[in-house]
Amino acid sequence: MEFIDPRRFGGVHLFESPEDRDQRVLSRLGPEATLIDGKALGGRLKASERAIKAALLDQQVLAGIGNIYADESLFRSGIRPDRPACDLSDQDLARLARCIRTTLGRAIDAGGTTLRDHRLPDGSSGTFSDGHLAYGRSGQPCTRCRVPMVSSIVAGRTTTWCDSCQA
Ligand SMILES: [Zn+2]
Repeated sequence: MEFIDPRRFGGVHLFESPEDRDQRVLSRLGPEATLIDGKALGGRLKASERAIKAALLDQQVLAGIGNIYADESLFRSGIRPDRPACDLSDQDLARLARCIRTTLGRAIDAGGTTLRDHRLPDGSSGTFSDGHLAYGRSGQPCTRCRVPMVSSIVAGRTTTWCDSCQA
């Protein structure tokens, strides 16, 4: 078995059987991010005073969003990553859910994000990083308003956003 983890956030777990794995892993995961809507998202966030980015990264709230896609989804929806989750209106939640689906859909179309060691099963590298709107663009002009993007640590992770068009 080969295990390559360029960001060192992964892990290898041993389970006794597929049923054991399902029971221990899947039962703790939130709904699939690719299928989320505003109502379902709101139901999982309404009571949370955590930063919206922290909530999005919590796999028990939503399964399938990592650091990069959280930044991309928040940029697309115009929501600041450090805004308290409980502060989002129904419209914000609907827009965020739509932007999460768009972000993940485009990433899947493009074959995932390219990290140094990331390879598709055929050995080629993914191309999504060429199209990042927020992630890794600190100091570069925002693609919407041209103000330089800013970056800070939110939810323990490097986070990039536009101070001008994300509120
Ligand atoms: Zn902007």
